[in-house]
Amino acid sequence: MMKLKPEILAHPNIPKPLHGISPRTIMGTARWNETRQDVYSKYGYICIACGTPKKEVKGENKWLEAHEFYDINYKTGVVKIQSIEPLCPYCHGFIHSGRLEALLDKGEIEKEIAFAILEHGFSILSKAKLKCFPGTYEFAQSIGADTFKVKPYIVIDKIPWGKWRLIYEGDEYYSKFSSYDEWEKFYSFNKGGSMTLQRKPAAARPPASARPSAGTERPATSVVIPQNAKSKPVLVIGKSGTGKTRAIVGLNPKETFLVNVIGKDLPIKGWRKNYTPYINGKGNMLISDDYSTITSVLENLKNRKEIKYVVIDDFQYLMANEFMRRSYEKGYDKFTDIGRHAWDLLWLANTLGNGRIVFFLVHSDTNDLGEEKVKTIGKLLDEKICVEGMFTIVLNSVINKGTYNFATQNSGKNTTKSPEGMFESNLIPNDLGFVAKAIYKFDNE
Ligand SMILES: [Zn+2]
Repeated sequence: MMKLKPEILAHPNIPKPLHGISPRTIMGTARWNETRQDVYSKYGYICIACGTPKKEVKGENKWLEAHEFYDINYKTGVVKIQSIEPLCPYCHGFIHSGRLEALLDKGEIEKEIAFAILEHGFSILSKAKLKCFPGTYEFAQSIGADTFKVKPYIVIDKIPWGKWRLIYEGDEYYSKFSSYDEWEKFYSFNKGGSMTLQRKPAAARPPASARPSAGTERPATSVVIPQNAKSKPVLVIGKSGTGKTRAIVGLNPKETFLVNVIGKDLPIKGWRKNYTPYINGKGNMLISDDYSTITSVLENLKNRKEIKYVVIDDFQYLMANEFMRRSYEKGYDKFTDIGRHAWDLLWLANTLGNGRIVFFLVHSDTNDLGEEKVKTIGKLLDEKICVEGMFTIVLNSVINKGTYNFATQNSGKNTTKSPEGMFESNLIPNDLGFVAKAIYKFDNE
């Protein structure tokens, strides 16, 4: 019998700034799945904290979960992974007591189950004569769960929000939220889901201080991008047939990665030669409407320094296709999921680094008030997420006197916007290369 490690149950909650950042999100789904399977097998398919074999674990799901065991330094704000451990859903739920509390608050977990998880963990800590994380103790006290006489240890956390960082494989990962408020906004939107359904958060974004440094003006196709500059999402919205996809022609294909959501042909001469299918890390056009595929491919792009532009065309089909696939599902959860997936991808666009520009091309729809907005899948999704709200640059593709243009300023009936002075006029050429150049110039001069 493997020596058990009940002390894992004393693991602190992950500091909030680092939520959504972990080796599993950094290594990507495929490698993580391999890693955790290795862990389960290495320990003989038992929970290493309580010793329960996989088939006999408490709860509905008879499976094991892999927990990233961290060394959390409250003096320096540095978090490092120490090991990956196999846990039963109850032990795992106990460790993530902050999440358990959130689920309970939102009524997404039965009170009896929350109690059972807490008592499961406390009884093991009690037998092993160990202390617990203070947050877990307070939570248990607040709802009147039995703590089996386990006492909390003391944590003094005076690390400022932006100083917390995860160090993994030599790289530093800072919070993807600029403040507690942003964190709260994000997690109040992303309702917890079931205990064992981990959402897959976007990867870390560089510290807010990382901004493009000054550079000389060059054509968009050979812009020098500071390595540490934050990436930037740009929304291009317009009615069908106004030349959104055609605007890709202004980007150098060698520096561009295209996510072709519905696999459509491009209205660009020579496109088959310039946009080759993405296979095993090569090629610059991914045909997929699957979020997890898109997410892991985009995360891999971080290693492809030559890629400066990412184009997602058409973004609304990502939402619409998921909606169609799930049309048989009753209830409203699917709208939360669809909104959350879109939100995650938008977050990811902020974290690709190297000053990359991520263009989201999306069809527009005119509402009852005559306003032109992103075409989503309707009100139930719009209540969850305001796509335009997540961008500082929203361009509108229009046909003006027979020419294709982008409008850069609000017409009063749409959501178009751009920072003052970024573009010289309201109507600019329908050309993503032109747009990229103007953005770099604005950010760097
Ligand atoms: Zn267990």
